[in-house]
Parts: sequence; C-alpha cells; structure tokens
Amino acid sequence: MDQTQIDALRSIPVPPRGHIIDGQSVAASDGATMDIVSPIDGSVLTQVARGTVADMQAAIASARASFEDGRWSGMPPAARKKVLLKWAELIEANALELAVLGVRDNGTEINMAIKAEPGSAAGTIRYYAEALDKIYGEIAPTSADVLGLVHKEPVGVVGAIIPWNFPMMIGAWKLGPALAMGNSVVLKPAETASLSLMRMVDLAHEAGLPPGVLNAVTGEGAVVGEAMGLSMDVDVLVFTGSGGTGRRLMEYAARSNMKRVYLELGGKSPNIIFADVPNLDEAAKVAAGGIFRNAGQVCVAGSRLLVEAAIHDEFVAAVVKAAEAMTVGNPLDMTTAIGAVNSEVQLRANLGFVDTAKSEGGEVITGGDRILQETGGYYMAPTVVTGVTPEATLTQKEVFGPVLGVTSFTDEAEAIRLANATVYGLAGGVWTSNLSRAHRMVKAVRTGVMHVNTYGGADGTVPLGGVGQSGNGHDKSLHAIEKYINLKTAWIKL
Ligand code: NAD
Repeated sequence: MDQTQIDALRSIPVPPRGHIIDGQSVAASDGATMDIVSPIDGSVLTQVARGTVADMQAAIASARASFEDGRWSGMPPAARKKVLLKWAELIEANALELAVLGVRDNGTEINMAIKAEPGSAAGTIRYYAEALDKIYGEIAPTSADVLGLVHKEPVGVVGAIIPWNFPMMIGAWKLGPALAMGNSVVLKPAETASLSLMRMVDLAHEAGLPPGVLNAVTGEGAVVGEAMGLSMDVDVLVFTGSGGTGRRLMEYAARSNMKRVYLELGGKSPNIIFADVPNLDEAAKVAAGGIFRNAGQVCVAGSRLLVEAAIHDEFVAAVVKAAEAMTVGNPLDMTTAIGAVNSEVQLRANLGFVDTAKSEGGEVITGGDRILQETGGYYMAPTVVTGVTPEATLTQKEVFGPVLGVTSFTDEAEAIRLANATVYGLAGGVWTSNLSRAHRMVKAVRTGVMHVNTYGGADGTVPLGGVGQSGNGHDKSLHAIEKYINLKTAWIKL
C-alpha cells in the first residue's frame, strides 16, 4: 500500500446500494433510503436502503428457506470450505478498495484499517474454512449395549448485528464460524459503517456462496435490528455493540422465541503500570496507542490508566508526550496516527465526557477539544485526564473515544481493587518486571483478556469475550464455533 494507490481511490463516487436478499440487491419495501455521511469531512458519501420490518422479515425468510433446502447446510464440508477460501482470497485481492471504502465510511486511520479490516477479515474467514472439516462429533463412553453419539449440527438461522468501529473484522468474527458450520445468516450492519461490509457480502456471492445463505439488511437498529431480535425464526443472535442494545436484545429474545443471544459489549479496561515497568517510555507509547488508535473506538481500549504513585508524574508525562506525537488528521493519509471520530453524535458524546470529568475534579493534561473543525470532519485531540477517582464517570462509564483517565495506586492490592471496580470485564494490561506479580495480576483482574508488558494486539487463535457487563460468549479461535452449533445426542440400543 502506498499513498498514490490510496489517492486513486479516495474520491471515487460510491453508488447507492440496497439490501442483499436472496443474492439480489433490493430497495427498501417503501423505497426509503438514508444518507451515509463521511466523518472525514461531513460530506454525504452515498445512500443505502433504510430497511423496514418487512425487509428484515424477507431476509430472515430467505435465510430460513436456504437453510431448510440444504443448499449450504447440506453441502459437503469440502465444498463449503472451497467457497469460503475463495471468499477470503477475493477479500485479499480487493483489500485496498475495501479498506478505503470502509475508512471513508467510518473514519479509522488507513494504516490500522488495512490490517484490522480486510486483512483480519480474510484471515478469519480462512481460519474457519480450514477448521470446518476438522470438527468431529463424539462417541460417548457408554456401556457396551448402547451407542451414544453426539452430533454437532448447525443451529439454523443466525442473526448478526455489527457495530461501526471495525465492521469487516467483527463481521468476519461472526460470519466465519457461522457459515463454516453450515448456518444461514442475516446480517445487520451499523448505520454509520455499512459500505465495506456490504461489499464483503457481494464478494461472498462472487466466491460462490449460494443465494439466500447470507442476507444483509441496512437501516436503523431500532427498526430492522429490533425486527431481527423479535423474530420467531432466528435461532441464534450474535451481537457486538453497546450494553444498552445488548440488554434490549435479551429482552427481545425473552419476548419472542427465547433464541440464544451472545453479546460482545463494551469495556473500561485497566492498563496497570507498576514502578518496575521494564521500559517506561516504550510502555507509555504502547499505552497511548492502546487508547488513542481508531480515536479510542476500540472495544478493548485501555481507557483507564492505573499508575503506581512512585512513577505517576513521570509516566503521565511520557504518555502525554506520546499522545501529542500522534498526528490527528485525515484517516486516508498514511501519516495519520488517529483518524476521525465515527460520527458527530459520537464526537459530542466524547466532549460531554470531558466536561463531566472536569466537573468531577479531573484535570485535563492534554487534548479535550474538537480539532480540525474547518475540514467539516469529526476530529478530537487525544485527551489525558488525571486525578480520576474510582467513583468518577470516567472510571465507571465507557466513552468509546480518545479519552484516557488516570488514577494512581500505592500497592498491588489497591491496583487489583481499582481494576475490578467497574461492571465491565473485557480487557486489561499489566506492566511489571516481576514475573510472579504478572501472573498474580493475570489471575486477579476480572476480565476476558489480560496483556502483560504489551497492550492490544491478539490474533485469531485466541478467544475474545467479556465477563460481567462486557458480555458473554467468545469471538475468535475454535471456541467461537460453540455459538453456531447445537449438540444432538443419538442414543442407540445395540
Ligand atoms: P450500538 O449498540 O448502538 O449499535 C450496535 C449495533 O446494534 C448497530 O448495528 C445498531 O444498528 C444496532 N442496534 C441499535 N439499536 C438496536 C436495537 N434496538 N435492536 C437491535 N439492534 C440495534 O453500539 P455502537 O454505538 O454501534 O458501538 C459501540 C459500542 O460497541 C461500544 O460500547 C463498544 O464498546 C462496543 N463494542 C464492543 C466490542 C466487543 O468486542 N466487545 C467491539 C466493538 C464495539
């Protein structure tokens, strides 16, 4: 990837697009569309179909029909694998086009997007394609006069609701294992980041996925997402997004067919720096990257910095230096380290959190403002707030923006107490030269993933999922497959 290649793609007109139902592009049943606004400059990029309840129902019916007639679920595993491998290949072949389209839609800096979006999505699809014919059922250790078989069957129709921060990567985390196991899927991309994911769905069809197996409906969560949640014909619902929506999805399931609901929600992840941090400047740079990349719109972002009092001032100074060295700007420029905030609504919410932090006694050491307003885009300076108390809003509520709250601690016990003092438990980090302490902290912090002397960056071989109000179930790794299968026992008298 070089700047000239990006520049050739950055202002190509984006044609309006419809849903994908039964392998066809279709308009909303009432013809309604919605504008897609680029966070880079606030301009209207294109329009997508504003889905209706009827559209969602049509997509679910198409998925159900495709599942029941076995066009995918009944296909030999080796044939399914071939289609998915071809899909991964097409995503890679179109990686730059997909990445640039996605960045124009959601604002992630291109250096991150190229790896995290098409790069990671292709890797994920390939991982599950390769796995699908290596997953066996079981023979139970019964007495000799019976045979107990455990079959692993697809669940049927999977509904997948995707957020806007990494649509292709997170989309693939759901689509890869769901399709690999023979399910049919209905996808609901986020309002403010649908274009690259929809294009990825086109490529699945180009790769030979039969029509109806993967349908995608754009539009508002409160309309089409709700219709999916309330459907009597969706068997499993998988979701990444906010806790508020996650809670609603559980209610929808309870009010309809009690579908299984798997939630990947937000976090308020503690990055814990002990005075014996191996390399203070390096740790500060990684800590800054761990909160500010993608403008803080990363579910595992290390948004709470817990620093041992002895090095508090020195460490904060190093983080501020690292933050101020990160260029905020047009996410399509390769020199940009922090791109645009996804939407004006999100930018306003971020600024509101900074005001609240100040009113609660926090001190803004750097950032705190909207910048580059003249571009028409939604940019925010990386923000560091010190003196954040355990009760403060900045400790307790997820911002999902480039805002780092700093709290100091005096010993290991206090660090653990602070780390565990929120309703979340998605990620965390500990920096220390003491191996025993590192292991103790990994055990003691209640979270789905704990980093040691690094932050962020885990590949597809390990699971990602939260505890507490960060969610349930796991994306990535072979563990994710459990969400997309039913176990069926055959008990055979011999
Ligand atoms: P959101 O919950 O508003 O939206 C996520 C998706 O849910 C969108 O597709 C939206 O259209 C849909 N939706 C909204 N209301 C709905 C409803 N009533 N019924 C059904 N669907 C509905 O969240 P967001 O603002 O798009 O995403 C940011 C949040 O996601 C943050 O809180 C972040 O931490 C979380 N997140 C978590 C992870 C993770 O892996 N745990 C990853 C990325 C983002």
